[in-house]
Amino acid sequence: MEYRTSRGLRGRRLSVQVDDMTKSKTYGGGRVCTVSGCETRLSTYNPSSICALHNGGWKDELKRPSRKQRPREEMTRYCSFEPCSREFVTSNPAKKYCSDACRMKAFQARAVAARQMGLGESLVRRAS
Ligand SMILES: [Zn+2]
Ligand SMILES: [Zn+2]
Repeated sequence: MEYRTSRGLRGRRLSVQVDDMTKSKTYGGGRVCTVSGCETRLSTYNPSSICALHNGGWKDELKRPSRKQRPREEMTRYCSFEPCSREFVTSNPAKKYCSDACRMKAFQARAVAARQMGLGESLVRRAS
């Protein structure tokens, strides 16, 4: 009990000290935003040389690239087009072929196989 009380007091004293520091520290009056065309007067407590509006835009720009850098797991796969069967690395789990060329070839091979099967069936039917 006693330990917790003294700890709380110490925390309160610290926050008061921080408040005093920020109050006593000023950055001079009469400054304006350094962004060209912007004449917003800066607060004497504002440590930066640009206004809050431009400061916010700067923060947004910083956020944008980090959103793009989503961790994507790379994996080694083998081309689903059998005559190729080449090993390739992709971060797209839906990718089956090493290249568009193989994807097209595999598609055409399947179409040809389907046509041949259909032809075979009709031949069998005609023969019987
Ligand atoms: Zn500004
Ligand atoms: Zn391939």
